[in-house]
Amino acid sequence: MEYIKLVEVCSALESTSKRLEKTYIISEFLKKTKTEDLNEIILLLQGKVFPPWDEHKIGVASRLILKAINKAAGINITNIEKEWAKIGDLGDVAEKLIKTKKQVTLFSSSLTVKKVFNNLRKLAGLEGAGTVNRKISLIAELLTSSKPIEAKYIVRTVLEEMRVGTAAGTLRDSIVWAYFPEAGAVYKDKNIEVKDREKYNHYVDIVQSAYDMSNDFSLVANTAKSKGKKGLKEIAIKVGIPIKVMLGPKEKDAGSALKRVGTPCQAEYKYDGFRLQIHKQDSKITLFTRRLENVTKQFPEVVNYVKKNVKGKSFILDSEAVGFSPKTGEYLPFQNISQRIKRKYDIERMAKDFPVELNIFDCVYYNGKNMIKEMFGKRRAIIEKIVKQEPKNIVLAKAIIAKNEKDVDKFYKESKKAGNEGVMLKKLDAPYKPGARVGYMVKLKGELEAIDAVIIAAEWGEGKRAKWLSSFTLACIDENNSFLEIGKVGTGIKEKLEQGVSFEELTNLLKPLIISQKGKNVKVKPKIVVEVIYEEIQKSPTYSSGYALRFPRVLRLRDDRSPEDATTMDYLEDLYFEQKKK
Ligand code: ATP
Repeated sequence: MEYIKLVEVCSALESTSKRLEKTYIISEFLKKTKTEDLNEIILLLQGKVFPPWDEHKIGVASRLILKAINKAAGINITNIEKEWAKIGDLGDVAEKLIKTKKQVTLFSSSLTVKKVFNNLRKLAGLEGAGTVNRKISLIAELLTSSKPIEAKYIVRTVLEEMRVGTAAGTLRDSIVWAYFPEAGAVYKDKNIEVKDREKYNHYVDIVQSAYDMSNDFSLVANTAKSKGKKGLKEIAIKVGIPIKVMLGPKEKDAGSALKRVGTPCQAEYKYDGFRLQIHKQDSKITLFTRRLENVTKQFPEVVNYVKKNVKGKSFILDSEAVGFSPKTGEYLPFQNISQRIKRKYDIERMAKDFPVELNIFDCVYYNGKNMIKEMFGKRRAIIEKIVKQEPKNIVLAKAIIAKNEKDVDKFYKESKKAGNEGVMLKKLDAPYKPGARVGYMVKLKGELEAIDAVIIAAEWGEGKRAKWLSSFTLACIDENNSFLEIGKVGTGIKEKLEQGVSFEELTNLLKPLIISQKGKNVKVKPKIVVEVIYEEIQKSPTYSSGYALRFPRVLRLRDDRSPEDATTMDYLEDLYFEQKKK
């Protein structure tokens, strides 16, 4: 397929914020897409060239794009920078500059989807001397043969910043509309008419659950196209491919929590670490974060604990890894160990200085059997059987069976005293629902609910902070994967690194992500997630979300979260109404 066909679709998607319209555009495009192009098309529509769990990353910073534009369009870097400051989006800059050049040469061969995809994939495979120049060449090669509008989307894809709004729900529905006419969705006058809602939802559920199992829309689309409903139902959890973890809503007290999960239920310590999914097939152990990133190399000691202490030929376990002080043995807040997640060198030393204890709390696959439909009580019984506990290495999440509010309150106090965040309450007769924040487990944390916000802009400081970014614009995510502002924050960030998240650290993280700069204000790629607490959520005309956080304060960096995991607008609205009730 010609790349321009995909680009036209991206451009159409960008021109509307209406979800139904986006769904229609994608579904019509999928109908026309041949099987041989489907994998690439689905990934590129999501602005990706690898599935999320793949260890390969494109890893190209904005500076490199400037050089590639320079090479392709023959315009000097200073002038490109000027355009960049004026226009903002580097994709738009590429479009404009390639257009200028094309008017002169009028030459353009046609790019195929495969060519673009392959060059972008090659970017991730490069290593060693000369890597930077080879990366520039690969991008410049594409830009040289591209039409101006193609250049725009090539640049955005390289920067992993597509912003055309293909959220998972939209893609899922497009697959239903494209490949299951029998689901009865008819798009008319920018609206959808469904003859039989139940039947339609049935198809949506089938596609969704195939996605929940595989986390791979390319596989789901291909299967839907070639093997239909039956094929989708056969998509199963596969050891080595991470699943989206189950999440739990927050409840305000033991009473309301027990209403959700029923009695008796299981109460567990809610550890303040990071989620770790453990996969084992024969002798191969793989670890994934909640962002589905493969972190096996970063945690060699965890691999050893699992090898030594967990029985079974194959399994997938859900757990929380918690840091503790190697001197006192006390649990440490997540911030202390978060640096291990991205670390690529000095791994052994890090493991010694920042050890983690693995707290296993669920099992979703065991010895060839998918366990997600099994009841929680049964899944817990399995981990009790297969895990040989060794404190400070690998243990089961501490748990009791709670019969009433008194049990929960007592256990909650005990958990807090032990240095944890609170407790999780779990319904004993509930299945595991990947990727959903359902009430099969709920959390009790006590204090005001912090939110995970994405930094989308910042401002350079003044005086002694002049070399740092010092005020940060925060955003939540909406159902189209757009980031909407909810306020600015400068509080809670420290002057020195040792004290927690510092201005210097944030500046270093954000600097390579700068997309544009006007005076003291910079726009940054939405990548960095911070946990923020506030006094209140207010309605506000100032920010694009329509809400503002009053007195926000940064608690910590959430480097285990991707921007897509940020607090959603829906959730923020829930919090807003919740606080009004009080
Ligand atoms: P939070 O920011 O409060 O950790 P979250 O958005 O990560 O919330 P939730 O499902 O809302 O996820 O809260 C549960 C989280 O708590 C899990 O994602 C997991 O990382 C952590 N956790 C700690 N102990 C447990 C436990 N015993 N059972 C389940 N989750 C636990």
